[in-house]
Amino acid sequence: MIYIHIPFCKSFCTYCDFYSEICSPKVQKLFVDELCKEIEERRAEIESTLGLNTLYIGGGTPSVLKPELLKRIVDALGYGPYREFTVEVNPDDVTPEYALFLKGLGVNRVSMGVQSFDDGLLRWMNRRHTARGAVEAFSHLRQAGFDNISIDLIFGISSLSGEVWEDTLKKAIELHPEHISAYQLTVEEGSGLAQMIKDGRYAEASDEQCAAQYRTLCSMLRSAGFNHYEISNFALPGREALHNSAYWKRLPYAGLGPGAHSLTGEDTRSWNTSVISGWTREYEHLTLEQIREERLMLGLRTADGVDGMRIPESDWFISDSIIEDLI
Ligand code: SF4
Repeated sequence: MIYIHIPFCKSFCTYCDFYSEICSPKVQKLFVDELCKEIEERRAEIESTLGLNTLYIGGGTPSVLKPELLKRIVDALGYGPYREFTVEVNPDDVTPEYALFLKGLGVNRVSMGVQSFDDGLLRWMNRRHTARGAVEAFSHLRQAGFDNISIDLIFGISSLSGEVWEDTLKKAIELHPEHISAYQLTVEEGSGLAQMIKDGRYAEASDEQCAAQYRTLCSMLRSAGFNHYEISNFALPGREALHNSAYWKRLPYAGLGPGAHSLTGEDTRSWNTSVISGWTREYEHLTLEQIREERLMLGLRTADGVDGMRIPESDWFISDSIIEDLI
């Protein structure tokens, strides 16, 4: 499992705290030079995580990267064809030509940040696409031959009414994507949204409003044939994300690029520092209790639950901190 983090965006969304920068083509090229160097330096470690044969390029916004630079990264890895090769895109970047380019690159799954089909909400989120633009981008991907497309949606915004949320879900279902990820808006420290709350320009949605929208989400997608396989993720049968599912099972993965995390042993997590150039790696050795907590926390997010085979019965216990998280 390989994850590549592309830390570029063309603008910043209200709610986002991911590491990302707005950069010139020259900086993009220097970034790719450094990323290719990291790939060479960590090749043995990358190869130790290739069992599932998945590649996920996320960000930031990978579709902001010039196509020739994205191709350089994929060529530098050199492990294709992948069983699952996902690239995250912004609808505004998806032209018919770009969709064909991704297809030619060996991408077989596209994850598109749609977030809403309401233009007022999209403006509030500072997204750079319209609802219509997202529908057109989806159509370009289909025309290019993609048969595995995931779209992201956001709910739990105080100005999102129940009617608009239902309409958003209806429009999402009408597109017939294979996968939908729907996230409740959370306030991340350092995001524009956190500042808006401090300034009194935004009040969070109530727990009741969020719960009602989550119930609507679950029931409408279930009725449309989606399998609710993780708290925030829904897939048509057989279209569950391989890469993300393996992450929830704590299989080893190698993350490259600024801010990317890796799990290269049961008890070894590492992450790259979040700088555009000269990123370094930091390590954390997990205790047995931390490993058990992670297995439980990740397993409980999924419909499969905790994989009993991976936790000997003698190791089962729930610590106070897990109970606090659950209630
Ligand atoms: S949500 Fe995506 S596009 Fe928006 S700022 Fe964050 S990384 Fe960039």
